[in-house]
Amino acid sequence: MKQFSYFTRSEDVQNSSGASFDVLVVGGGIIGSGVANALSQCGIRVILVDRSDFGSGTSSKSSKLIHGGLRYLAQGRMKLTRNLLKERNYLLKHSEVVRKETFDILVGKGQFGKLSIRAGLILYGLLGGGRPTRYIENKGEYPEDVNGYFSYTDCVTDDAYLTVMNVVSAHENNAVCLNYVSFQGLERVAGGIKAQLRDIITGTEFEIQAKMLINCAGAWIRGLVPGNKVNPQTIRLSKGVHLIYPRSVYPGKNSVAFKSPVDGRQMFVIPRDKVVIVGTTDTFTDSPDDLEVTPEERDYVKKSCAIVSDSFAKADPMVEYAGIRTLYGKGSSPGKLSRDFKIIEDDISITVIGGKVTDYRRVASKVAKLVSSRIHMGKVLRDIPRLDYPGLPWHNNIETAINFECAVTSSDIMERRLGTYFFDPERLEETSKHILEFLEKNNVKIDNGFFHI
Ligand SMILES: Cc1cc2nc3c(=O)[nH]c(=O)nc-3n(C[C@H](O)[C@H](O)[C@H](O)COP(=O)(O)OP(=O)(O)OC[C@H]3O[C@@H](n4cnc5c(N)ncnc54)[C@H](O)[C@@H]3O)c2cc1C
Repeated sequence: MKQFSYFTRSEDVQNSSGASFDVLVVGGGIIGSGVANALSQCGIRVILVDRSDFGSGTSSKSSKLIHGGLRYLAQGRMKLTRNLLKERNYLLKHSEVVRKETFDILVGKGQFGKLSIRAGLILYGLLGGGRPTRYIENKGEYPEDVNGYFSYTDCVTDDAYLTVMNVVSAHENNAVCLNYVSFQGLERVAGGIKAQLRDIITGTEFEIQAKMLINCAGAWIRGLVPGNKVNPQTIRLSKGVHLIYPRSVYPGKNSVAFKSPVDGRQMFVIPRDKVVIVGTTDTFTDSPDDLEVTPEERDYVKKSCAIVSDSFAKADPMVEYAGIRTLYGKGSSPGKLSRDFKIIEDDISITVIGGKVTDYRRVASKVAKLVSSRIHMGKVLRDIPRLDYPGLPWHNNIETAINFECAVTSSDIMERRLGTYFFDPERLEETSKHILEFLEKNNVKIDNGFFHI
């Protein structure tokens, strides 16, 4: 296993300055890291940059489900559900950071209809989603408006860590992966592009050359490559918020899929070891940086979850977070826009619009095929991208995060390597102390919040 740390990152920044690559990938969310991993596995020389930490955008702010999306099936998007289920099943088999979870889907007044859910779950099963259980009467587990529920199986993950695993895998396959390096702009040159990059930690600006750019900047893709064929009018942003409560607020064993009594939207209550994550909302926004949870949004989630347990309305969440979906198309409500991804190409760039966490491999393999055919690498792509880094899911440690997963701040460790922030927020202070002890013991200095190894 190669070292991948602040130290190797600094060396990589220096060595990259003025260097030529086949491909520059901008954005180290699940999509960009999956793409970088796929390309590097095809022997393509890749540089991946993210202006913040890997996975710090929407890829750490999702509902953390790996699923086919029963809701998409209800919208008639059968092909999308089938593709997502195929990916879900692959990830469950090949990645330890994806695990099974049982969901109760509620039937009753203002909830789902018994017959339609039975039919939907049978179809979900046929498309690759496993078998639903028989209908179970509500015997007091849920409020009285709920008549009963069906249980079915889907999967959950740690979205941020899955992203980091892809980055480490790409690094193992010789991609240059730089967090805290922003893409500033580009100019066309013979044979491709010259890109201006900035090291956020040191303030150093440097240039690299590449044959093409892959724009995986998520909600920030608009306007990143001037003059390309992406019509900014058809890219819509939608905000989703989640609240995280202590596990004691909801003692139920299974996750719950239900309709919000406020507006009938589908929502989830998802117990995750020491916490329960609830959400989400789906409202258009104009800004990719609209990440504050407003009192109205918090109130909506709390009122909606009261159908599962009134404790959600009474208790205060420990943590709350917002993420921005990037959707493609026209429509009056975000819930009606497709969750499928779209790829737009021009002579110097490929832009990826959308792409669920569940679907990142499909995006990555499509992009890898396009790039391969363009720069004539001609390598056969099978089972791409694989995860060539197994990670240490659910039990990760500080030393690994710093030396092998390129964590360079305390938040990098607690939010995107160990998952403390999302899955065990009560231990944030204790973990922070452990990090400081580790840094002191190893004579690592902190400057401006960044570790200097
Ligand atoms: C509320 C919500 C719930 C969701 N739930 C699920 C779910 O349960 N399951 C699922 O499969 N999907 C889910 N999704 C969808 C999924 O989370 C996203 O589609 C996915 O994370 C998008 O990944 P990305 O890599 O495109 O974007 P991001 O993760 O946002 O990555 C883009 C990156 O680009 C970087 N960047 C931007 N500009 C620059 C620049 N100039 N230079 C360098 N870097 C730059 C950013 O720092 C960022 O890290 C959910 C989405 C939301 C909002």
